[in-house]
Amino acid sequence: MNDTDIKYLEHKSLKDVPGFKSAIQLKIRNDKPVFIGLRDDALSVFTDEGKQYFYDLEGQPWRLSTLNYTLQRGVSHYGLRLRKRPKERGGGYDRERLNDDELADFCKELWQVGGDMLDAIERTPREKIKFTKPDYDTAILQIKPIVERIAGYSPDRIERERERFASVYQPVPVLPPDHYRAFVLQATEGCSFDTCAFCSLYKGIPFRVRSVDEFDEHIKRAIEFHGEALRQRSTIFLGQANAISIPQHRLVALMKRIPEHVVLPPDEERPVKPKWTRGKRLHFSGIGAFIDGFTGLKKTADDYRELWNLGLDRVYLGVESGSEEILEWIQKPAQPDQMLDTIERLKEAGVATDIIMLLGVGGKTYEKAHIEMSLDFINRSALTKGDRVYLSEVVEYSDAPYYQRMEHDRIERLSEDEMKKQLDVFKDAIKKRRLQPVPYRIDPFVY
Ligand code: SF4
Repeated sequence: MNDTDIKYLEHKSLKDVPGFKSAIQLKIRNDKPVFIGLRDDALSVFTDEGKQYFYDLEGQPWRLSTLNYTLQRGVSHYGLRLRKRPKERGGGYDRERLNDDELADFCKELWQVGGDMLDAIERTPREKIKFTKPDYDTAILQIKPIVERIAGYSPDRIERERERFASVYQPVPVLPPDHYRAFVLQATEGCSFDTCAFCSLYKGIPFRVRSVDEFDEHIKRAIEFHGEALRQRSTIFLGQANAISIPQHRLVALMKRIPEHVVLPPDEERPVKPKWTRGKRLHFSGIGAFIDGFTGLKKTADDYRELWNLGLDRVYLGVESGSEEILEWIQKPAQPDQMLDTIERLKEAGVATDIIMLLGVGGKTYEKAHIEMSLDFINRSALTKGDRVYLSEVVEYSDAPYYQRMEHDRIERLSEDEMKKQLDVFKDAIKKRRLQPVPYRIDPFVY
């Protein structure tokens, strides 16, 4: 290894690090070599100390990865620390919210690295830049403007961005995992019934449907807010909760506004391959949204087909449990048969349908009924290959009635082992039904 090689590039040439349309390697402050690579949707920086910095194309701080953890910031200005969970604990990541100081330190570090990079690009003579791809002039031309933006994201600017987000969006407390990087458009605010005992996601947000003009303005402002960073987002998610519950004629009028601002694939090309959207600012592969089984019945298969024609390609239905008794206990205003009927109509219309089941709901008191009736629900459902069953551990928010109910009814919670066993039972049965089980946690999430 010579004095300008960094571990990331040890024994590699630029040909071995695909995915970057341009790249340079140079030394920043204190003579530290860094590799800067630009992709279609982000800028990455690799240091010799094993740190990797990621920025969106607006220059906003996005991720910092080290060997032990990853810090991540969303455009709503919340931050997460992710640590890999050992396989015996189910794999995946432990996610933990960053406090204000940690988030401020994260943003400051990424901003300072931006300043160091800009300084280095401006003062390093061409011959001292070790790697350039595709060539020096092109690489500098493409990378420097983004580094200038990164260097502009001072703590004050970050604060202004946070306020700008709040002026465009209501909070985005949850998205299905395959939409974590979606372009969110909010046709509604809040949840249409907001009764579920375990959920406090939209508490304090009165439900309302935006008018067509308001929604149109929202789309414009959301596109402007994300700017070049939209290239990272390949799907649209129609929020907030249960946007599909909007009466059909209003929903159609709202959805018709979307393709006036963005490009959705023509019907004959759906579902599109990732390259259809990759790196393109206003191309999206389709629209996803939450649905509930109760208002879901107010629409016919023809209605759902009409929504499919407008770009809706996947919906997410919070079934929670197949047991009527449990649904009543958690105050979910939908019955299993209503939800099965809704799924049937969706499938008839060709809309991919994912459902969410709560693991451990009702603790030991309801364990047997929950497993038996939920598996029966899955087996009786019209779900088809490609549809997923999300398995989400019930989360006890202290401000949600679920916790008080568990305490009041003196219900014993499942132990970690019992929870894992329940997960395995679900996973096996779902696979036997040729569907895809996807374990996930709803908290914490950042948009
Ligand atoms: S779980 Fe879904 S439907 Fe129930 S209150 Fe929360 S957002 Fe509304």
